Amino acid sequence: MFRGISIYEFRKMFKSNEDCLEYVYSMKWNKDFCCRKCENSKFYPVRTKWYRKCTKCGFDESATSNTLFHGMKVPILKAFEIIFQLSLRKKGMSALEISRTFDVNKDTAALLKRKIQYGMFSSGKNKLKGNVCVDEFAVGGKEKGKQGRSSTSKKTKVVLGCEVVRHKGKLTLGSAYAQVIENYSASELKPFFDQKIDEKAKIRTDKWSGYKPISAFYDIEQIISEGGKNFKELNNLTLLFKGWLRGIHHHVSKEQMQHYINEFIFRFNRKAHPKGSFNRLIENLMCSKPLFIQ
Ligand SMILES: [Zn+2]
Repeated sequence: MFRGISIYEFRKMFKSNEDCLEYVYSMKWNKDFCCRKCENSKFYPVRTKWYRKCTKCGFDESATSNTLFHGMKVPILKAFEIIFQLSLRKKGMSALEISRTFDVNKDTAALLKRKIQYGMFSSGKNKLKGNVCVDEFAVGGKEKGKQGRSSTSKKTKVVLGCEVVRHKGKLTLGSAYAQVIENYSASELKPFFDQKIDEKAKIRTDKWSGYKPISAFYDIEQIISEGGKNFKELNNLTLLFKGWLRGIHHHVSKEQMQHYINEFIFRFNRKAHPKGSFNRLIENLMCSKPLFIQ
């Protein structure tokens, strides 16, 4: 397993574009070569060291093509540095900060940030286990006269689940997941349970009627929220997310919200081992399809 690295080690490992290309090259083809066009397993190296050419159909593929690195408008060493900073910094960086810190133009920084966010997905292998709390919240500005679970609110609605674990005698947060939802109905909430929560988990929610039909499939205890008092850990996490979003990312559209949630959760779930995030992020970018956006 890849051991996390410090910035000192990062700079020793990656001094040039070649170092980065070698890293992704071996990540892509460490095992066997398989031609993307004809599935042939034989190749010969061509043009430069970081390409492989299929011996059968002649298809020529670079180490970064057909991945999220495809079409990045900055040299790969700079992209690596940005990915490293985004993975390690507790609060990440806004596109504007990336633009200023790394001397790239604003549009390039925004596109780069978007691509890196696309790589911040979770594997889906680690479902929430043990004691899990679930609640929803809404983000995106203030609306007069709309309170609670208003179905007409224009705010982006999110369902959030987190593990509550005991650490050194105190209740604290384990892993968490969150998902943008259209409304607070059981049919919108249920897929979140199916995808993110272990079927044996002991789940707590408030008294919202939308959870009732789901309790036929899961071990759900519905308790009175008492203004959030009974869901203190979960509320802290909601506040942390909202604070982070407000602090460095203004004007996040409903369409973009899931990507910001993914970024937040990616970092949050790696809080105990932040140094390993860099390698995971490079791996995720390498196994994702290219993103063609302007
Ligand atoms: Zn081929």
